[in-house]
Amino acid sequence: MKGLGVGLIGTGYMGKCHALAWNNVASVFGDVARPRLVTLAEVNAGLAAEKARELGFSRSTGNWRDLLNDPEIDVVSVTTPNAFHPEMAIAALEAGKHVWCEKPMAPHFQDAVGMRDAARRAGRVSAMGYNYIQNPVIRHIRRLLDEGAIGTANHVRAEMDEDFMADPAAPFYWKSEASSGYGALDDFAVHPLSLLFALFGHVESVVTDMVKPYATRPLKEGGARQVENHDIASTLFKLQGGISAVLMANRSAWGRKGRIALQIFGSRGSILYDQERMNEFQLYLADGRAEEQGFRTVLTAPHHRPYDRFVPAPGHGLGFNDLKTIECRELIAAIGGEKAHLIDFEDGLRMERSVHAMARAFNERRWVSVSELED
Ligand code: NAD
Repeated sequence: MKGLGVGLIGTGYMGKCHALAWNNVASVFGDVARPRLVTLAEVNAGLAAEKARELGFSRSTGNWRDLLNDPEIDVVSVTTPNAFHPEMAIAALEAGKHVWCEKPMAPHFQDAVGMRDAARRAGRVSAMGYNYIQNPVIRHIRRLLDEGAIGTANHVRAEMDEDFMADPAAPFYWKSEASSGYGALDDFAVHPLSLLFALFGHVESVVTDMVKPYATRPLKEGGARQVENHDIASTLFKLQGGISAVLMANRSAWGRKGRIALQIFGSRGSILYDQERMNEFQLYLADGRAEEQGFRTVLTAPHHRPYDRFVPAPGHGLGFNDLKTIECRELIAAIGGEKAHLIDFEDGLRMERSVHAMARAFNERRWVSVSELED
């Protein structure tokens, strides 16, 4: 069986992560044809050639449009800054390629609608890079919720904190531009939001506050530039099924490195999870003698599938890049016509609708129903 032909656009943080996944997926899972790493695109031919050598692609180009007419390419990974996603994803779909696009879909809601519509028209697979839903721990939490292990879930607290923008002296870059989106919401809060979607279904209404801790950031070439979006956001949610949720996101939180924490409270117990300790979760069940009740820590093990595909020993742990490899396997399943655990452009648009409702709630200082945002 011929493996999928892959085109990759961008080789930064996420581009390398996609490239590792495409390189590893056949070896890890053992049940798919090895993808063919055909062409890598970067901003210029020199960088593209260097990265193609490093990441194992046969060809390279300084013009991403070269990927579109190449019949050897079946699927395109879009890992460029947010503002490029609509143009690149739509062009790839229109060229008949499947698309694996990094989050968020687009800074503007109507562009995200355009991406969803392009996927519908093309009839190709469209997948978003919401890797955290792939953690075997999250999959197991979903199972616990489905089985009613903690009774009826009634409240969720979600937090996402990192400190990559905590230093006021850190130079201005694309993440602080309005053209890249709302900052803390679509750059950041979308990750815990993807977990809320994966675990609880859709958002019904929201109210949001946002904060800009630093008004300006220094420019590398000297001087300073106005920060155009917000680094901190707090949202109250009403979720499908009457569950209430709180989501707090801060990309300028000194000391936090990769926190995506969930506290899920139910009528018979609670579940705690934090991405900084991504190989474990805590479970509290209100049964047995009160004297012995307490949170217990469960470490991931081969029975938390697909952990078993990476390592046979319990408690040894997966890493961030492994989540992308799992996402890649799901994408290959979807392309093969199998049922897959992915956020596609249809679900991605539902998430975008929530994000834009959050921004509208902040701008208009009121609760906003997600249904106010029409396609
Ligand atoms: P980055 O700045 O590290 O990398 C972006 C890359 O795109 C760079 O290599 C840049 O040279 C390249 N690029 C820019 N314009 C290009 C063009 N016209 N043609 C070809 N290449 C071009 O950024 P990043 O942190 O990797 O973020 C990229 C995307 O990934 C963003 O949308 C971001 O939101 C998302 N992201 C997702 C996760 C996740 O966990 N899923 C984590 C971080 C970032």
